[in-house]
Amino acid sequence: MSPSLPSEDPLVRMHRELARALAKAPDKVKWVMVIDLARCIGCHACAVACVSENKLPPGVVYRPVMEEEIGVYPNVRRRFLPRPCMQCENPPCVTVCPVTATWKNKQGVTVIDYDRCIGCRYCLTACPYGVRCSDFGGFYTKPTAELDGLILGRKAAAKGYEDAAAPEYGKAWPPRGHGSPIGNARKCHFCQHRLAVGQLPSCVTSCIGRATVFGDANDLTSYVRECMGSPRVFRLKEDQGTHPNVYYLA
Ligand code: SF4
Ligand code: SF4
Repeated sequence: MSPSLPSEDPLVRMHRELARALAKAPDKVKWVMVIDLARCIGCHACAVACVSENKLPPGVVYRPVMEEEIGVYPNVRRRFLPRPCMQCENPPCVTVCPVTATWKNKQGVTVIDYDRCIGCRYCLTACPYGVRCSDFGGFYTKPTAELDGLILGRKAAAKGYEDAAAPEYGKAWPPRGHGSPIGNARKCHFCQHRLAVGQLPSCVTSCIGRATVFGDANDLTSYVRECMGSPRVFRLKEDQGTHPNVYYLA
């Protein structure tokens, strides 16, 4: 059974702790995420919020929510597992990149330089968690009747979403058409652009079960650090030696 929530909304606490972390020197902060599977109800709000936040095209999903059925009929139930990039401490995706377009930043997040990435996709193959996607430049309304003006509203929707620039890494990446990030590898980056302005990652703020906890692992009094000490904690594929910075609570 899931433990009860504290009296203060965890988001309020996480925002306060985020401000504290951002006041420190960047190399003193270590971003980590803990996902409490007992609180995840499989609503996919985080996956949708992430797609919207990062203006992701078809086929590019940074935070899918995996589902499985467990048990034997009639005693069956569904289990959900959100799966962002693990921001590995020892990331195989980094070492295979032939043009050093991906690396660990000072806070432990694996980032990508879209301008340097040549789209070879070696990193997609090297990642043991399958979290990297390739942006093939698709868009949701292609081809649809809106292009012929047959469906009212489609064109306006496309303008709002598909013509908006992706805000990743603090830049306004051009909408569909030409150039980066089309042709690049893309993945979760803990919403670097939001952290830079004092906001929690979008998946954290959109989680209705408060199942996603985020913060500075170097802050010994933080909520995320508290969760990391839970007896329910585990990480995915520990045997691979990747040392993920995303933890789960069983
Ligand atoms: S989960 Fe995959 S993409 Fe993310 S840091 Fe680890 S190896 Fe790289
Ligand atoms: S942290 Fe940001 S980029 Fe990563 S899954 Fe959540 S919303 Fe998406």
